[in-house]
Amino acid sequence: MSFADLGLSDELLQAVEAAGYTEPTPIQAQAIPPVLMMKDLIGIAQTGTGKTASFVLPMIDILAHGRRRALMPRSLILEPTRELAAQVAENFEKYGKNHDLKMALLIGGVQMGDQVKALSEGVDVLIATPGRLMDLFERGKILLTGCELLVIDEADRMLDMGFIPDIETICSKLPVNRQTLLFSATMPPVIKKLADRFLSNPKYIEVARPATTNINIVQHKVAVNARKKREVLRQLLRTDNVSTAIVFCNRKTTVRELAKSLKRHGFAAGEIHGDMDQPARLAELERFKAGEVNILCASDVAARGLDVKGVSHVFNFDTPWHPDDYVHRIGRTGRGGATGRAFTFVAPEDAEAIENVEKLTGGKIPVFELVLEEAEAPREEKPKREPREKKREERAPRRAPRSEEPREERAPRREARSEEPRKERRPRRAEPEPEDDGWNGPVPEFLSVSALA
Ligand code: ADP
Ligand code: MG
Repeated sequence: MSFADLGLSDELLQAVEAAGYTEPTPIQAQAIPPVLMMKDLIGIAQTGTGKTASFVLPMIDILAHGRRRALMPRSLILEPTRELAAQVAENFEKYGKNHDLKMALLIGGVQMGDQVKALSEGVDVLIATPGRLMDLFERGKILLTGCELLVIDEADRMLDMGFIPDIETICSKLPVNRQTLLFSATMPPVIKKLADRFLSNPKYIEVARPATTNINIVQHKVAVNARKKREVLRQLLRTDNVSTAIVFCNRKTTVRELAKSLKRHGFAAGEIHGDMDQPARLAELERFKAGEVNILCASDVAARGLDVKGVSHVFNFDTPWHPDDYVHRIGRTGRGGATGRAFTFVAPEDAEAIENVEKLTGGKIPVFELVLEEAEAPREEKPKREPREKKREERAPRRAPRSEEPREERAPRREARSEEPRKERRPRRAEPEPEDDGWNGPVPEFLSVSALA
C-alpha cells in the first residue's frame, strides 16, 4: 500500500514524499479514501499512529477547490490543547505547501487580535480549542454557517478535559449538511453518544489493539523512597545512555522544582506545565526539539500527544494516578521503530497507582534494581519539609467536588476499571466505562487494522 493508492492529488503526494513518509500508517490507509469521498468517519487508533495526517491530507485536497469568505471558515478542527492545535497547524503547513490554503489558529493564551484579523480575511482551515472558539463565537467575531467540514480530534481527551458540552454547542452551530470526522484513542460511551448525535452514517475504523505493550519500549519500575527520587533520577540520567528524556511528574509544582534542581546539578533541563502561558510552552518545546535542552520535565496535560521525535527515555518521576496516563507517557518513546526505555518510580504511596497501571497493561512491569551511588547527596537536595496537612491538600482528595473549569492537571480519580462501587466514580464519567478492557497503549507503528462496517 502506498500513498499514491489512496486517491490523493499529485501536489499532495509530492509534499508527503518531501516530508519523508513512504507508506501510510494503517489508520491513514483506511481513513483517507472515505474522507476523500466526503463520508463521515470515526477513527479509533492509539496515540502515535498517525491520525493527524489521516485527516489533514484529504482535507487539503477537499479544500483545494472553493472560495474563502470573511469570518466564515470553511472547515474547523477542534483540538483539546493548544500544543496539539499548534501541531496540527504545522502539519497543514508541511503538507499544504503546494496549495493555496489559508489557516488560522484559535487558541487560548495568545493575543486574540491577530487571530481575529486572519479570520476576517477569510480562512480555509480554522484550528481551535473549544474554549477560545466559544469565546469568539459569543462575541460575534466568527460565523460557523459556512463550515462544511468538522474534525473533532482526540475526542477522549476532550471528554477528560470537560469540553463535551462546548463541542455539542459548536456542532449545533454548524450547517447540518456537513462532513464530520471524529478521532479518538478510545471510545467511551459519552463519545459514542456524541458521534451518534452529530455524525451521519459514519464509516467506523478501528486499528486493532495489541494484547501486549509496544515491543519497542522497555519498561521498568524502580522502587524508591520519595525523598530519594531526585537522586535516583540523576543516577539513571547519567548511567542509562540517555540522549533525550521526558520526565513526567503528577504535579505542576514538582515539575518546576525538579527542573530547577536538575539545572543546579548541571543537566540541560527544561519544563512544560499548565501554569505556563502558551508562548512560553511552545518556546520551551522548541528548545527541546532543537536540542538546547535534552531533558524536559512535564505535566500530563501539557505533554499529552506532543509529537517529539527520538526521545530515548521516559521517566515517571511519580507513578501516574491514572493508568491511561501511563500509556500516554511511555508512548513518547519507542516511536517509529526506535527502541525506548521507560522508568517508573514507585514510592510506597504509589502502591495502588502502580497496581492499576499493571491491571491496565496486563502484566507486571519488571523491577529495575538500582544501587544508589553514595558519592553525591548534596544538602540542598533534601526536600523541604512541608507540614503534613499541606501535603494532604496537594494530593487533591478524590472526592473533592469537581470544578466547572476544564481540568488542567487531573486530580486523582477512582479508576473505572478498579472494583470501586459505582457511586464512587467522578461525575464527569456519568456513563459506565466501555466493556472493552483491552490494552489502551501505544501501538507499534504499523499494526494490522480492522475496518468494521
Ligand atoms: P496520533 O494523532 O495518532 O497520536 P500523529 O498524527 O501525531 O499521531 O503522528 C505520530 C507520529 O507519526 C508523528 O511523528 C508523525 O510525523 C508520524 N507519522 C505519521 N504518519 C506517518 C507515516 N505515514 N510514516 C511515518 N511516520 C508517520
Ligand atoms: Mg493526534
